[in-house]
Amino acid sequence: MKKSPPVPLITPDGKRCDGRAFDELRPIELEVGVLKNADGSAMIRQGKNIIVAAVYGPRELHPKHLALPDRAVLRCRYHMAPFSVYGERKSPAPTRREIELSKVIREALEPAIFLELFPRCAIDVYIEVLQADGGTRCASIVAASLALADAGIPLRDLVAAVAVGKVQGHIVLDINHLEDEYGEGDMPVAMMPTRGVITLFQADGVWTPDEIKYALELARKGIMKIYELQKEALRKKYEKVIEEVEVGV
Ligand code: ADP
Repeated sequence: MKKSPPVPLITPDGKRCDGRAFDELRPIELEVGVLKNADGSAMIRQGKNIIVAAVYGPRELHPKHLALPDRAVLRCRYHMAPFSVYGERKSPAPTRREIELSKVIREALEPAIFLELFPRCAIDVYIEVLQADGGTRCASIVAASLALADAGIPLRDLVAAVAVGKVQGHIVLDINHLEDEYGEGDMPVAMMPTRGVITLFQADGVWTPDEIKYALELARKGIMKIYELQKEALRKKYEKVIEEVEVGV
């Protein structure tokens, strides 16, 4: 039996605990090229989530026996800072959850990358969650995919992601930590938006087939909005580069 939430998850006027409508994303800010020393990087703020992704590569892979003769190896590390969570600090050591999320994030990104162009190489993606408020695996995918693009790695498409959830019987878009903890279900979805290919689909809780259909469509609409923000963030970075080049001339 779940504990009851500290605040009502759905208010009498049909809003969510943070004032959003059921189909509303949290405010999202994306910035590309935030780290000087990485080959590519990006930051996402999504509600109270703050996450930085850094990409290194394609580069020589060590240890060499892990190299593949026909394609690059994508390696992802999702890490939550000890101070990123509510309440007690989390251990700085990788937890089972972080190991699992590193794997699902890698699998969500892999189909978008032309790995076959870089045999025997590694592409490393480091994700640091500085502040966590639910839906961090999806926010991490959004930032990591931008960081890959920023590193100049050839992509079939960007990958955008969002988690939908079930809260007091309502299907809602982009769940926050309270909705995740006290709701009845969580469904993270990632897609290559222009191709309409799903690269991550997880679900916990109990969903009817109709609810799954509705939730997937809601996720798709959210993903298309996030995809527009991703393209805008990339565009901004290159506008800045052009400005710098022009000033330099
Ligand atoms: P996601 O962040 O993708 O929703 P989870 O469902 O595993 O992944 O986690 C939900 C939320 O629970 C996280 O975003 C974070 O706010 C919180 N959380 C995760 N791990 C911890 C932890 N070790 N201590 C406190 N809160 C945590």
